[in-house]
Amino acid sequence: MRVLKFGGSSLADADRFLRAADIIINNAQQEEVAVVLSAPGKTTNKLVAVIEATLKNGEAELQIDELEQSFYDLFKAIKAEIGNLENKNFDAQVKTSMLQLRQYVHGISLLGMCPNHVNARIISKGERISIKLMQAVIEAKGKSASLIDPVAYLLAKGDHLEAMVDVDASTVNFQHNPLPQGHINIMPGFTAGNAQGELVTLGRNGSDYSAAVLAACLRADYCEIWTDVDGVYNCDPRLVEDARLLKSLSYQEAMELSYFGASVLHPKTIAPIAQFQIPCLIKNSFNPQGAGTLIGQDTGEDNLAIKGITTLSNLTMVNVSGPGMKGMVGMASRVFGAMSISGVSIVLITQSSSEYSISFCIEAADKLKAEQSLQAAFELELKDHLLDPIEFTDDVAIVTLVGDKMRTARGVASQFFASLAEVNVNVVAIAQGSSERAISAVIPEDRIAVAVKACHENLFNSKHFLDVFVVGLGGVGGELVDQFQRQQAKLAEKGIVIRVCGLANSKGLLLDSEGLPLDDWRERMGHATEEFSLARMIALVQRNHIINPVLVDCTSSESIANQYIDFLAAGFHVVTPNKKANTASMSYYHQLRETARSTRRKLMYETTVGAGLPVIENLQNLISAGDELEKFNGILSGSLSYIFGKLDEGMTLSQATNIANDNGFTEPDPRDDLSGMDVARKLLILAREAGMELELDDVIVEQALPPGFDDSGSIDEFMARLPQADGYFIELSAKAAAEGKVLRYVGSIDGGVCRVKMIAVDDDDPMYKIKDGENALAFYSRYYQPIPLVLRGYGAGTQVTAAGVFSDVMRTLGWKLGV
Ligand code: ADP
Ligand code: ASP
Ligand code: MG
Repeated sequence: MRVLKFGGSSLADADRFLRAADIIINNAQQEEVAVVLSAPGKTTNKLVAVIEATLKNGEAELQIDELEQSFYDLFKAIKAEIGNLENKNFDAQVKTSMLQLRQYVHGISLLGMCPNHVNARIISKGERISIKLMQAVIEAKGKSASLIDPVAYLLAKGDHLEAMVDVDASTVNFQHNPLPQGHINIMPGFTAGNAQGELVTLGRNGSDYSAAVLAACLRADYCEIWTDVDGVYNCDPRLVEDARLLKSLSYQEAMELSYFGASVLHPKTIAPIAQFQIPCLIKNSFNPQGAGTLIGQDTGEDNLAIKGITTLSNLTMVNVSGPGMKGMVGMASRVFGAMSISGVSIVLITQSSSEYSISFCIEAADKLKAEQSLQAAFELELKDHLLDPIEFTDDVAIVTLVGDKMRTARGVASQFFASLAEVNVNVVAIAQGSSERAISAVIPEDRIAVAVKACHENLFNSKHFLDVFVVGLGGVGGELVDQFQRQQAKLAEKGIVIRVCGLANSKGLLLDSEGLPLDDWRERMGHATEEFSLARMIALVQRNHIINPVLVDCTSSESIANQYIDFLAAGFHVVTPNKKANTASMSYYHQLRETARSTRRKLMYETTVGAGLPVIENLQNLISAGDELEKFNGILSGSLSYIFGKLDEGMTLSQATNIANDNGFTEPDPRDDLSGMDVARKLLILAREAGMELELDDVIVEQALPPGFDDSGSIDEFMARLPQADGYFIELSAKAAAEGKVLRYVGSIDGGVCRVKMIAVDDDDPMYKIKDGENALAFYSRYYQPIPLVLRGYGAGTQVTAAGVFSDVMRTLGWKLGV
């Protein structure tokens, strides 16, 4: 015997209904089957809404009309496929059901309330429609089908809306009145009968439980739950794009997963099938060939420490605490007794080891009931201040890791909490089941999606997503996007998915949380109509719960640099070749780092000095190993390295500047280089990195232009005037050459003073050979002397700079790069 259950999603329209019928008939050809059906689609929700509308407005006629029509429409659509479909029984069922519904509605509108036994009758109407329709379809396909009345067979106890079935007593009912052999027996899910013979429901989503109970009563060989996903995933597939399908689960694992929120299975489902060791298969009615997930005695083929991550939302946490609680006997039982009397169910409990407080989570809807009942139960203790006022933390949710093997695996909890910390999720409380099969954290509800994504990424070693927003698409920015495009496939093989979710420049903005297509990005950018907006990028990240967003600022804008704090606070890593943030005031400099630390985001700026050369990283490594920078000398500007190198060869300053400008070595406005400010900023960044507290004004700058040179006007006017400086350099170069020296524009740090100036160096000096856009940086430190640590290589150029930015973007993944 095989029990097959079809959920509402598998019965929502004609196509699905017919698929379900085919699956049933195919199975029935192999062995005896009993079928449990939910209400079609969202029928139960609509019936609940009918009750709510009646209590609010006194009637719900329009909703009932619509519902009635939806049943006829479903029938009609199926009839279009199966001509000989018999309508008599179905029509009669719809008519009686809707007539009763209208009568109940009239009654509850007069009463002004809906008693639970009436409520149960109303909300279970959809299941009755499903079974009549399925019976008609199966019969039209030439098979015989009988209906099982759960009120007669399944004996239930407890509340009319949350009843539990007595499997032993119900088994006897099936023994006394066996189901007809050779028929497809169809039972409406969600309902049973109590000892008085009244209809009761088994709780929302309870048809899974109906199937389990039926399977247990019939001692079925298999219980199959047919739904709209391929089985049980390790995470809710609606929350995590690459959630993984599980092949197998133990009963206990399935129980914990469903209890803590995996809505694919009702938590009550497991106990009856586990009791009789009936294997349970979760399958997709849209993909009957799929293997599905098998729930059985042990963890099975998927021998993983952590099987899944689940979430429960809409909770409130209650905290009962106070000096009077220590050692007070029976305190916990009084707290939970109060909850039980008021019918509030408790989702999770934690108690501090000092016994000073008991915290527990309840459904948010039960808050008022819980509050009133605790106030009443502890009236005296509260009055006498033996208890503090009872605290309620609203809008919390629970994230839970589940797995039988977690008990013996090490480091799971630490990875779990590290993942939550990484995305800056505040953990309100922690609980671990004594079986060690589940670890739960209570967190703010609005962080749930981010928390699950981060845990999934880290704990399942799944894909790591880098969602990049590039602002400034000139030389470096444009090249970077091209490099991303070229590398995407290769990185994807290693499980690193780079998605460019935002592209922006002063002319427009393109956004896509799934990642923009990159093949024609320049053209699309040309047509971008949306206005540039940093706020929209932040909003996109928050709306889509992106966990690793990276802002890459390839502009030289001060105003964007001033907003890095907002980006860090919004969860972005910031990667930048823009020197403005690191050379703003010392207080902003510290603030940025403090924000990055507190939000656990990375601020990366390797390319602000020496382009792609690993300057910042090396300096940071030295300093963190206890070294101290004593002196520094360097050629820090690629463009000035080029220009001064050309002077050695006898070129004039204006010629060299023009060529450098044409080749894209200089800033768009060459005065930024010739003024020495670009070098001054780089020097300041190095000095601050080495621990010096200096402002940009403290850097002594001698510009590369002759003293008093008129650098006003437009770029063209300035360039036209530049030949007037040539004579000055010809003279200085000749003088230097006469001493065997060359002119170099260097930045130096010595005795705590930063200085930028032109000097003449001889061939003993490491700077002598530096030209053609090369940079050289000589660090004299406690460990590196008298021979300095020298870094040398191209210090400008869009390709090397973009590659440096790229590697900073990768480094935002931190330790995950090594996995
Ligand atoms: P049915 O109508 O068949 O009873 P449900 O909507 O009750 O279907 O349950 C199936 C849904 O459960 C899926 O569509 C999926 O969105 C959701 N779900 C939540 N967590 C999980 C999980 N871990 N694995 C599979 N599905 C899950
Ligand atoms: N139809 C009921 C509900 O929606 C039972 C079920 O589908 O499991 O709650
Ligand atoms: Mg369900």
